[in-house]
Parts: sequence; C-alpha cells; structure tokens
Amino acid sequence: MDMHESVAVPRSAPQPAGLRLKHIERVEGWGMAVGGLSHVFRPTDAEGVRAVFDLARREGRSVGLRGGGNSYGDAAMNTGGIVLDLTRMDRVLAWDPATGVIDVEPGVTIERLWKTIIGDGWWPAVVSGTMFTTMGGCAAMNIHGKNNYKVGTFGDHVVEFDFLAPDDGGVRTVTRENDPDLFHGAISGFGMLGCFTRLRLQTKRVYSGRLRVEAFDTHSVGEMIESFEERAPDADYLVGWIDCIKGGRGLGRGIVHRANYLAPGEDPDGDLTLAVAAQGLPDKILGLFPKSLMHLLLRPFCNNLGVRLINAAKFHAGVLHPRSVVYLQSHTAFAFLLDYVPNWKFAYKPGGLIQYQSFIPKEAAESAFEEQLRIAQGAGLPPYLGVFKKHRPDPFLLTHAVDGYSLAFDFRVTRRNRAQLWHLAEELDRVVLDHGGRFYFAKDATLRPDVARAFLPAENMRKFAALKRRCDPHNLLQTDLSRRLFGSDLAATMESAGAR
Ligand SMILES: Cc1cc2nc3c(=O)[nH]c(=O)nc-3n(C[C@H](O)[C@H](O)[C@H](O)COP(=O)(O)OP(=O)(O)OC[C@H]3O[C@@H](n4cnc5c(N)ncnc54)[C@H](O)[C@@H]3O)c2cc1C
Repeated sequence: MDMHESVAVPRSAPQPAGLRLKHIERVEGWGMAVGGLSHVFRPTDAEGVRAVFDLARREGRSVGLRGGGNSYGDAAMNTGGIVLDLTRMDRVLAWDPATGVIDVEPGVTIERLWKTIIGDGWWPAVVSGTMFTTMGGCAAMNIHGKNNYKVGTFGDHVVEFDFLAPDDGGVRTVTRENDPDLFHGAISGFGMLGCFTRLRLQTKRVYSGRLRVEAFDTHSVGEMIESFEERAPDADYLVGWIDCIKGGRGLGRGIVHRANYLAPGEDPDGDLTLAVAAQGLPDKILGLFPKSLMHLLLRPFCNNLGVRLINAAKFHAGVLHPRSVVYLQSHTAFAFLLDYVPNWKFAYKPGGLIQYQSFIPKEAAESAFEEQLRIAQGAGLPPYLGVFKKHRPDPFLLTHAVDGYSLAFDFRVTRRNRAQLWHLAEELDRVVLDHGGRFYFAKDATLRPDVARAFLPAENMRKFAALKRRCDPHNLLQTDLSRRLFGSDLAATMESAGAR
C-alpha cells in the first residue's frame, strides 16, 4: 500500500506542529506473511501518546497501537498510517511481594514481569506461549494460557488500568466497578478504544520454580478431549499437540501434557528454584549447537515430508515413554517452549507463516476439528503444527473464548500456495460457523468481514459500537485488521451487524 493511501480521518484545525510525520518503517505481522509501511512513533509516557493522537488529528491520519508485535497477522499494523509502538513505556511502577499485586506500564513484557516477581514466590497468572508479548498487547487481545479452562483469561487478573482514549477526556483509571462497560470492552477491544498506559495485575503465588509435568499419548481428537475432560478438574495446566499430517486411522493423534504447581515444601530444592537464573533456558542444544542458529537446522524440515518425519518421531518418542513418567520442569521451559529456539519462525522464510486458531463449543469440538483436519489434508496443505487447548467463557465483550476447545494450526505460506491457503481458510471458517465457534483476532490474517460479523454476538457488537462512539468517535484508532473486518467506520459496521 502506498504511504498516502491512508485512511480518511477528519483533520482538526491547524495547530503549531510539535511532532512531525516521519519515521517511515516497514511493520510486519509476527508471522512475516503480511507487512506494510507506516510512520512509527515510540513514546515514553502518556503525554507522548497524547501528542501522537494530536499529530494524527492534525494530519488526518489514523493510529494503530502496537506492543511487542507478536500478533501473527495484521492486528498491530496500520499500513499508510501511524503506528504507535508502546515498547518504550516499559517501567515496573510498583510491586508488592506481600500481595502479588504489580503496577506496570503497557510495554512491560511477560519476560520482564516474571523476572521481577519470581524471586518473591509469584508467577504471572496467565501467559502466552512466548514471553515477548507486552502487558498492553495481552490486555487488548485478552490472551489465554494453557490454564484458560481453570483461571480464565488475562483480563480476569487485571485489577484496574489507566486508559487514554482519543476523545474521552484525559487519562482515567478504570475498574470493574467504576466503568464496567469500558473495563470489559477495552480488555479484548484489540486497541480500538484507547491506549492502556498503566495496568495493575494480580499475580499467582508459587512455592517452587518448577512444575510437575506428565505426558499422555492420545490416538484421535475424541481421545484427546476425553483425556482433557478426565484431567481438567485437578490439573493446573493442560496442552495438547496434534500431529496434523497423519491421516486415516491416525487422524488427530497427539500428546497431552499436564502440569501442576508444587505445594509448599514439595520441591526438594526449595527456594533455589525460584531464582531467575534457575529458569534460564540453555544457550546451546545438546551443549554444542548455538540456539540462535537452530532455525537453520529446522529449515530442511519445513516441508510436508520433513514435518511428517518430525511428527512421527515426536509421537513415537512420546508413545515409547512409559505412561507414568513424571518429571519436574521450570515454569519457563513449560510455558515458553516456543522461545527455546530463537527466531524459529525464520525456518518459514521467505513467505512466513499464518496461524489459524478456532474455538468450538465442547459438544461440537470433535467433529469440527476432525473435519478441519480432513479438509486441510485433502487440499494438500496440512498444518505443520497443531496445538490444542481447553477454554471457558469470560465476560469480555469481544473475547474469543468459549466453553470448549481450540485447535491452532500453523501453515507455511509460499508464493505458490498463498491464494490456495486463503481459500482453505474460508472453508475452515465455514466449519467453525456451522459448529457455533469463534475466532481470535490475535492470530488472524485471513478472516473476511461477513465471517467476523457472523461469529460475534449481536449484543456485544452493539455495546462495543457504543464504546467506540464514546471513546473514539472520529475513528482515529484503526489497524489493517480492523479495516479488513469492519471498514474504517467500525462503530457503524458493528451497529448495523448488531441490528440483525
Ligand atoms: C509464538 C507465539 C505464541 C503465542 N501464544 C499465545 C497463547 O498461548 N495464547 C494467546 O492468547 N496468544 C498467544 N499468542 C498471541 C499473542 O499473545 C497476542 O497476539 C498478543 O496480543 C501479543 O502481544 P503484543 O504485545 O506483541 O501485542 P501486539 O501484537 O503488538 O498487539 C496486539 C493488539 O494489542 C493492541 N495494543 C497493543 N498495545 C496496546 C495498548 N497499550 N493499549 C491498547 N491496545 C494495545 C494492538 O493494537 C493490537 O490490536 C502468541 C503469539 C506468538 C508469536
């Protein structure tokens, strides 16, 4: 997109310019499959955020908020407009080791968070599969962890936040009690209502730096669901890996990992394991090969045949393990397995990858996910990774979570398969809608407007549209994703979709 092909936002009366439009950079989705040019600003405080909003109004440009840029698709991109990168607002403002309550700026990452609190015996209540996400990005997407079915989403652990909306006065402190609509709309609101400038979070007490982990093999999607249902009542974390290449009688086979916190006194190494150093992931694989080069080793396997070999080896290694093996693993090794190999996504270059994650109610999950696997395999586009999780509903307006399950697929994008892949995504969308499921903007690169408007509850869209009119009536806040799904007047689109 041309830099000037931006998005119409009414210009305000001319004012003396403080900031100027410059800083043109290429901004990409995390999966590297989508990207474009934007004017990028990196303020260090709320005043800086306000100054960029003013500049955007003067110049008639839209503003897209961005945290760590870990959304797979175009959720944190604003091609042709301004991108407000919040990673320099990264201070820990207050920490109370007696209660586990922490105040942070929006650019603080999960890495910074756990490193700040673990020595005092606390751990973030909800984390993503990578530690490089920021608090602002996690709240805006209302992220979930491998414990979603048990503790809810990120938003469930937010106590309050400071919020700067383009047209709603100055920075205001929002709680569940003083402004329930804004609280439940801004969290999950994918950066469309305003900017989090401070968040207060409740973290989780832990008594060891390690978890007790167990693995179980499963031979179908149905068995995986049974395994989750059986273990969920007393597991702190559950996550499944599905071999998405295997078809026929092995369709949906996989491995479930369950993890539990240790009780006080249960870890023989006690407090030592709570040191930050005890959480470190090793720098070398097998003590020899630098992790930073590991993606080069993965590259030859980043094709259908290579993934088939890796998956078969992984599944059989899991099956050969006696079922009862239990081991201790650090929180970081369990939670952030994907960070173990830095830049593993480079194995997907040059086309990058997209992730397709859908959420299906419990009763329909088995048939929906089996159908999706068959469709993808039948199209010759099997996902290279499949991750299975259990969820529960939450009170946030645009949340993705359901009382059921999600399966996230990673697809390799190439110049040749791109159109076919986007077409496949349409077919998978149909399965999700037919089974009453939902989608997740943090992972999305392919949804079409009609599908987005069909899966969101009408009442939630009406409420969200009212908040947009209150906080940002001139549509200053936009992203490539928001325009792709709701056009440049999100409130009007949601109002009409919500009136159906
Ligand atoms: C390897 C990997 C593993 C992942 N695992 C999980 C997982 O297990 N569970 C899960 O739920 N997600 C997961 N994700 C997705 C990720 O958690 C979300 O995309 C998250 O929003 C990224 O945070 P970020 O700081 O990078 O935000 P960005 O991607 O930069 O932005 C995300 C959204 O937040 C908005 N935003 C950013 N900062 C602010 C702010 N201060 N105020 C208001 N809005 C703001 C942006 O406009 C955008 O809409 C994973 C992503 C990767 C790459």
